Amino acid sequence: MKTLWTPWRMEHVLGKAPKTSGCIFEPDGHAFADKKQLLLYRDTLVVVLLNRYPYCNGHLLVAPIRHIPCITELSQQESAAVMEMIKKATALLSKHLAPDGFNIGCNIGMIAGAGIADHLHFHIVPRWNGDHNFITVLADTRTIPEHIEITFDRLAPDFLSLNK
Ligand SMILES: [Zn+2]
Repeated sequence: MKTLWTPWRMEHVLGKAPKTSGCIFEPDGHAFADKKQLLLYRDTLVVVLLNRYPYCNGHLLVAPIRHIPCITELSQQESAAVMEMIKKATALLSKHLAPDGFNIGCNIGMIAGAGIADHLHFHIVPRWNGDHNFITVLADTRTIPEHIEITFDRLAPDFLSLNK
């Protein structure tokens, strides 16, 4: 197996990522958005973050505010809020990044590949024709063409406009 330089994974493994609360899906403070925490959106039910360890450019995480591990524990109101946000976030990614498709889903439990198993979250992963899917799957390696803070700046104004 080839060893490739994947510094973001290393940071993950060593636990050096900026993380001030116990759970990344519960960002510090009460701000609607916060670039430092890659927080794009927060209301009383749902939170949207840019993944600090993305599979590709624009990889978003949508989670309920409530710290619950499984989709079965979502209330009806939370289910609606989370799905509505997945829909809106997908539309914003389409508008700004023009992907050819998306992978949208969640991993429940460590066995299923959840990095953070105790707080339910959905991944929205934009996909482009000819992107690096097989490399990602087989070698846990990826190439990120745009810096994450630039992606944040592109998406943040539209998420702000959702806050009405
Ligand atoms: Zn949590």
